[in-house]
Amino acid sequence: MKSLHAQHHALADSSYQLTVLSEAEAAGARLPAFAHKLRESGLLPLRPTELAVMQVNVGKMCNQTCRHCHVDAGPDRTEIMTRATMQLCLDALAQTTIPVVDLTGGAPEMNPDFRWFVEQISALGRQIIVRCNLTIIVANPKYYNLPEFFARHGVRVVSSLPHFSAGRTDAQRGEGVFARSIRALRMLNAVGYGVEGSGLLLDLVFNPAGAFLPGSQAGLEREFKQRLLREHEVVFNNLLAITNLPISRFMEYLLESGNYESYMQKLVAAYNPVAAANVMCRSTLSIGWDGQLYDCDFNQQLDLNVAQNAPQHIRSFDAAALQERAIVINQHCYGCTAGAGSSCGGATA
Ligand code: SF4
Ligand code: SF4
Repeated sequence: MKSLHAQHHALADSSYQLTVLSEAEAAGARLPAFAHKLRESGLLPLRPTELAVMQVNVGKMCNQTCRHCHVDAGPDRTEIMTRATMQLCLDALAQTTIPVVDLTGGAPEMNPDFRWFVEQISALGRQIIVRCNLTIIVANPKYYNLPEFFARHGVRVVSSLPHFSAGRTDAQRGEGVFARSIRALRMLNAVGYGVEGSGLLLDLVFNPAGAFLPGSQAGLEREFKQRLLREHEVVFNNLLAITNLPISRFMEYLLESGNYESYMQKLVAAYNPVAAANVMCRSTLSIGWDGQLYDCDFNQQLDLNVAQNAPQHIRSFDAAALQERAIVINQHCYGCTAGAGSSCGGATA
């Protein structure tokens, strides 16, 4: 499967996605503006709380082409963060006490400077999260020792595994992905990841395989733990349930399957003010592969930069100015505030 970008698909253009999101009245379904909901909750303008996470998207290159990917990542994407831009991130980090750096992509490990970057962040004494798609570990011999490398730097590994059954996972991520993911999970377990008392955290991410909200995070975690242990002798720490946001390839799926309007209505009906107060953009700064600054990885994919009165690029990082900004919101934000809420850390309410 090719990315939308390689297909020259209309949805590869973020302004077209924003047009679709703004067409609230299509098919007679009038959806309230997200800003209106936030105002009712006393949260407009949405302001940052304390900056706790620097999330760095080191490139769109990926060994997979998952159906619901919000980055439109894939092997055909070439956008990649350079070492010079990574250095700017490190310089900014060194000026702050931001405790956590969250590395994402694409498959972040495919960036040729990935290991160097991890070593530098580790030297600054910050906790590192890597959003690892699992299959990258077994994709090529040069990645086989990633589990040891992660363990050496105490990296918290967060990996998506849409389901504990091969069929459901492969349908979303590609043929054979489940079997390769299990092999990678065993390699992570073998160095201590997910094993009680090791201090090495391995979390899994669940996202629904269709136009519906995830079930209870705690219930899903119990079920995943039992099934993965019984059927594959695999252990992990936490399960993070994430709602699919209506952008990029998931938007394509919604439009093609005729589910777009009903999914948006579902999200709006499930709006939860407690989840809205806890959205991840309030405590995260997102950095794109080219150093541009965003409120979150979703805004990044929609080319919605941070507000104009804040620095736009990591080279002009200014924590105080960023703290004063209003977070840029749009209709896709309903995905973060529905039901139990959704963030890169799972449920928020
Ligand atoms: S592994 Fe992640 S980044 Fe890669 S295509 Fe799948 S969802 Fe996108
Ligand atoms: S999509 Fe981004 S900006 Fe919108 S609520 Fe979610 S995290 Fe915040």
